[in-house]
Amino acid sequence: MEFIPYGRQWLDQDDEQAVLDTLRSDFLTQGPRIAAFEQALCDYTGARYCVAVASGTAALHLAVAALELPTDSEGITTPNTFTASSNSMAYCGIKPAFADIDPVSYNISPLEIEAKLTSATRLIIPVHFAGQPAEMEQISAIASRHDLKVIEDAAHAIGSCYRDGGKVGNCRYSDATIFSFHPVKTLTTGEGGAVMTNDEALYHKMLLLRTHGITKDTALLTQNPGPWYYEMHALGWHYRMTDLQAALGLSQLKKLDAFKRRRREIVTHYNQAFRDLPWLTPPAEANGLDSCFHLYVVKIDFAALGRTRAEVMQQLAAQGVGSQVHYIPVHTQPWYKQHFGYGEGDCPVAEAYYEMALSLPLFAALTERDQARVINAVRELA
Ligand SMILES: *Cc1c(COP(=O)(O)O)cnc(C)c1O
Repeated sequence: MEFIPYGRQWLDQDDEQAVLDTLRSDFLTQGPRIAAFEQALCDYTGARYCVAVASGTAALHLAVAALELPTDSEGITTPNTFTASSNSMAYCGIKPAFADIDPVSYNISPLEIEAKLTSATRLIIPVHFAGQPAEMEQISAIASRHDLKVIEDAAHAIGSCYRDGGKVGNCRYSDATIFSFHPVKTLTTGEGGAVMTNDEALYHKMLLLRTHGITKDTALLTQNPGPWYYEMHALGWHYRMTDLQAALGLSQLKKLDAFKRRRREIVTHYNQAFRDLPWLTPPAEANGLDSCFHLYVVKIDFAALGRTRAEVMQQLAAQGVGSQVHYIPVHTQPWYKQHFGYGEGDCPVAEAYYEMALSLPLFAALTERDQARVINAVRELA
């Protein structure tokens, strides 16, 4: 019996051929495929500029750093996310604050953002949890009222659409949007990420910071003694993507709409199969949002089942069914408690959600037979 993980990549012959062709070309890194992948991401999302990088975390760090906010600034994000969302602020000396989530969408609540605003707040990082876009119309309205920057963490949401039909990543509601291409995400480059933006100055700053803060652009150099010459103009990092990764990304991007159709089909089927279980709450898709679901998160009333979550996960695993928990509220992590004095009770909705959350297998390569196995294993829990 094969084990079904909660998420995994889809790779086919086209993907393998694209990587192999690159391996046999002149460029393993810094070749033509990076720019081609960046252009393809712009074409797909509708954003003007793209900077491809080594990971989603690098994308977040680069975007926050390029905003050049004063170091006594504060930023607001959701506790229901991977630690990278708030870490990106901490890297830049910005104090992360956590605004509680909406109990239905599990996304950051605009009202809670307003409750967490202080005179030092300069930035909001909403996360499109599980693929469902956060309330960006409201969030961008709050940002313009208070002169705040917005970076969308869309690590879960490539392929998703806002209520207006626009693609996540078009940056209509933000200064920048980041993607992750880790293998559990909807589209993969192995490791990898990207920042989208419509802001030309921000774009150039991120290009500079992606490669040590070093430039060879003759228009920017303070002198030009010869062809070997370069200058470092900012303290940057090595956050570049390779051509091998970009080749895989280009090939994967062609399949994104098919991935989305398949993911939505799987979600619809799960929702129907679990409809009659009183101890299970399936995910709710808000009106008008068109999510490229990254995670299938259900809420389980473990008390009603008479079993702990650990026992349920073990029971599913014994049937060959993987599951995971997204997410342990970030403000309850030891480092966040120690550094900022946060702790249990700060975001009660996210904490209550966490007690009940369980992610079931969702990925484009999940077969109907395997989905039936997951459904049976879940229904047999009662
Ligand atoms: C995966 C993820 C990241 C980080 O992406 P990496 O590519 O793993 O660095 C950031 N934010 C969220 C919400 C994620 O799920």
